[in-house]
Amino acid sequence: MSDSKQVSRREMLAGIVRLTVLAAPAAWLVTGCDKKKELSCTDTSALSADEKQARDGVSYVDKSIESGKNCENCAQFKPGAADQCGSCNVVKGPINPAGYCKIWAAKPA
Ligand code: SF4
Repeated sequence: MSDSKQVSRREMLAGIVRLTVLAAPAAWLVTGCDKKKELSCTDTSALSADEKQARDGVSYVDKSIESGKNCENCAQFKPGAADQCGSCNVVKGPINPAGYCKIWAAKPA
């Protein structure tokens, strides 16, 4: 093997290492920006058994199953901070703006 080939391989390996070191954070930034973490408002650990039962009784779901109807456009919804769970005047526990339950009522216009 000649010296020029060994240098060439070293340079190639160094280039691959440099590329990997530079590409990893760039890929993380791109995927991190694309994926907005989906809001989950399902932690009912702070609720009493009765409150959980009442929440289940109105069939609350974290993502609406009814087109055009969700907690955000319900008269009972109280928004939280940006990208946070809100609350409800009727259903206890964290409420997802995208959620829904069977006592949904349209917000007055
Ligand atoms: Fe959501 Fe039901 Fe509360 Fe309306 S009443 S905000 S649909 S949980």
